[in-house]
Amino acid sequence: MDCVFCRIARGEIPARTVFQDEHLIAFDDIHPAAPVHVLIVPRKHISSLAGASEEDVLLLGRMLLAARDVARARGIEDKGYRVVANTGEHGGQEVFHCHLHVLGGMPLGRILPPR
Ligand code: 5GP
Ligand code: ZN
Repeated sequence: MDCVFCRIARGEIPARTVFQDEHLIAFDDIHPAAPVHVLIVPRKHISSLAGASEEDVLLLGRMLLAARDVARARGIEDKGYRVVANTGEHGGQEVFHCHLHVLGGMPLGRILPPR
């Protein structure tokens, strides 16, 4: 399939891999928005969170735990980090292969309205 994240998962496009197993690959974002910016990508092609279904429950859980493990491996667990799933047009999604962003290494500010 001509999907950039499927191609990275197959090793056809190089990426700086942080972690991989039979279910997932985690690699540095090519345009980092923070000192740590890692993408958690399932090997299965799911277009977005909106395209996920009941059969993906375990995979989605693995993605969240992989985000935690990546944060730990990159030394940002203690200070904290943000996990983001841009979804659809208003969510700002550019690559339509479901993924999580793990962002950290600096204070990120609030994205919800200030209290
Ligand atoms: P989103 O779809 O959630 O908006 O973000 C897609 C992310 O994938 C962007 O942050 C972009 O920089 C990253 N990205 C797009 N193409 C590549 C690529 O070929 N390699 C890597 N490492 N990251 C990519
Ligand atoms: Zn894909």
